[in-house]
Amino acid sequence: MSEEKKLPPVNGGYPLHTFDEVKDVYMEYISSPEDRKAIETAFNFIVEKHQGQTRRSGEPYHHHLIEVSYIIAKLHCGPATIISALLHDVVEDTDVTVEDIKRMFGEDVSSIVDALTKIQRLKLSKMQAEEFEAEDHRKILIGMAKDIRVIIIKLADRLHNLRTLGALSRERQIAISQETLDVFIPIAHRLGLDKIKSEMSDLCLKYLEPEKFEEIKKLLSKKAKTMDKSLDGIKKRIADVLFKANIPFQMESRVKSTYSIYNKMYNKGHPFDEIYDILALRIITQTEIQCYETLGLIHQLYKPVPGRFKDYIAMPKPNMYQSLHTTIVSGDGNFYEVQIRTKEMDDVAESGVAAHWAYKEGGYNKEKEQREIENKLHWFKNFVAYSDDNDSDSASDYMKNLTKDIFEANIYVFTPKGKVIELPTGATPVDFAYHIHTKVGDTTVGALVNGMMVPLNTVLKTGDMVEIKTSKTAVGPKERWLDFVVSGVAKTQIKKFIAKQNAEAIRAERVTKGHQNLIDAFKDRGYNQEEIDEFLVDNKALLQNFEVSSLEDLYFGIAKRKPTCSAVLDYLHVKKKNLLPAKTTKKHRHDDCPIYAQGTGRIAISLASCCTPIPGDDIVGYITKGKGITAHRKNCPNIMRESERLVPLYWRDDIEFASYPVDILIEASDRPNLLTDVMNTLSMNKVPISSIHAKLVSNGDKVHITATIMVSDNKRLRDIANILEGISAVYSISRVIH
Ligand code: MN
Repeated sequence: MSEEKKLPPVNGGYPLHTFDEVKDVYMEYISSPEDRKAIETAFNFIVEKHQGQTRRSGEPYHHHLIEVSYIIAKLHCGPATIISALLHDVVEDTDVTVEDIKRMFGEDVSSIVDALTKIQRLKLSKMQAEEFEAEDHRKILIGMAKDIRVIIIKLADRLHNLRTLGALSRERQIAISQETLDVFIPIAHRLGLDKIKSEMSDLCLKYLEPEKFEEIKKLLSKKAKTMDKSLDGIKKRIADVLFKANIPFQMESRVKSTYSIYNKMYNKGHPFDEIYDILALRIITQTEIQCYETLGLIHQLYKPVPGRFKDYIAMPKPNMYQSLHTTIVSGDGNFYEVQIRTKEMDDVAESGVAAHWAYKEGGYNKEKEQREIENKLHWFKNFVAYSDDNDSDSASDYMKNLTKDIFEANIYVFTPKGKVIELPTGATPVDFAYHIHTKVGDTTVGALVNGMMVPLNTVLKTGDMVEIKTSKTAVGPKERWLDFVVSGVAKTQIKKFIAKQNAEAIRAERVTKGHQNLIDAFKDRGYNQEEIDEFLVDNKALLQNFEVSSLEDLYFGIAKRKPTCSAVLDYLHVKKKNLLPAKTTKKHRHDDCPIYAQGTGRIAISLASCCTPIPGDDIVGYITKGKGITAHRKNCPNIMRESERLVPLYWRDDIEFASYPVDILIEASDRPNLLTDVMNTLSMNKVPISSIHAKLVSNGDKVHITATIMVSDNKRLRDIANILEGISAVYSISRVIH
């Protein structure tokens, strides 16, 4: 009880800021009068709306909002972000609606506040009691944020809540600290918001492990005192050398965060005395080259500890952190970590993504920065672009893939021009290609890694130089690529491509079906192919009447009975003919059979379905007991071993030949629209197709199309084969023998 009565220090004991101080920060980089006015309007609005509300500590509620916006302004965020930070609790805690905010501050701000309110209502801590993994929490948070600004405000909000955690019950302190450690700190780390991350970590440690926290703090301050003198000497010597070398610099030293020491002692098992980099010396210079020069000069002065040098300039960390790190030994045996970087790199180190997001008005390098953001945060671009798409099923799929990218990205490879590309672990050349551009991915045919041709499913390693071979006539991504690609972008694009291709294949199938239905309907009324073509080809009135722009569209409709075949025939005034057996009937009755055998009289002769002989083929008859003679092609393997039951057969040359079915096999490399092109070519050449079927072979690289087409004789078939071989990607046409 007595603990509850004691009032916690104002603002958790941290200096309390006024709105004027927030203003001082953003006035430095926001000069537009409208923007400045909008921020002040937002401030007055929240003071009015939250009036009478207090925090758990008894302070006016708007203290919290000022502190959160102060953190945001310190990160040099733009006006919309500062306004949203001020408004972040107003929808949840007052009668103000998102609509009101939209009216007052516009769409951009209202959508940020809306997302923040939704996240607030999620009550992540409540979910913790249920069976959610920390990783799911992070994914949900990222997934709901939609906008990096929402995440940054959420982190600032959490940071201020941690600073003032003293006002809550011990139980709540532990729950909130644990949640911060599980959910928010990994996000801050991933976004490179290092300053926020290390302050949060120290605060969490303070509440979760109070004794160890105090112990480490004591050890650190003791150690720092003994190191102070030696540090002064080192700073002086380094400054001297840099000055002589004419390198501009700033130098500062700092003790490492309590949490990072805790981590080394308790998670990695290093005794305090063996932790080398308790004191870090940071040197900020102007150019990348000066960083390397500085490093060289320092290594001349002090012995570097082997294995401790890291070049994060050439090889940035996944969160874009860049710096040179080395650990040196001073004359008196103390170790110091030295970090050398440019001002720009230092900004990124402190505020990560936010440094790239930093608001710059009409900045001279706005375009360059924009490009930089696009390069380094391509995932984010997709993230935002995606919200335009309303395909909900694949949206959650996409989000899943995307969060995977965000949290597990950690290999770095090079383009042939030396640009560093960040990819998720396990990424392959195909992931790389899609990262570069969707078009590159879609037209990839091969890849060189470090100058060697490799299979497309090769797993890339950090440091690999990757070159993608593309081809304008590439057949497009393969479905089996999905078995090995790991990046969300690649997965989504490949699936998109395949879905489109399937839609085309389905359409092609319907077109064939509709076409065949119509032909059958014509034939039922006694018309032959030539007469049918006369009705259909170049019949603009027909297309107009059924409101379609091509015959294909008409056939596509017929397959769905919209229109029906009889509607089409009626429109064309196709009356039923009163005919004797048509030349094109499917059964070849013996009395007008095109084949004869010497001396067999009127015996029935049928065409074998295994080798589908057509006029002009060398044929031979096989006598089936009681069923007459079947005509086979002479090279049909089904009759090769026979000799006794074979009779010579001849094609008659005194009747006009009709059409005969023949089975052909078209072999081709797979490519989009292949089937459609084959069918169009056949239809343009007036070759009726009675069935067509495509299947992928040899791992999906090749496609076999089998078709039964109607031809008059084998000369016609040879002509058709020549035409088909002219289709791109087709390399062989052959007849099929079953
Ligand atoms: Mn808040």
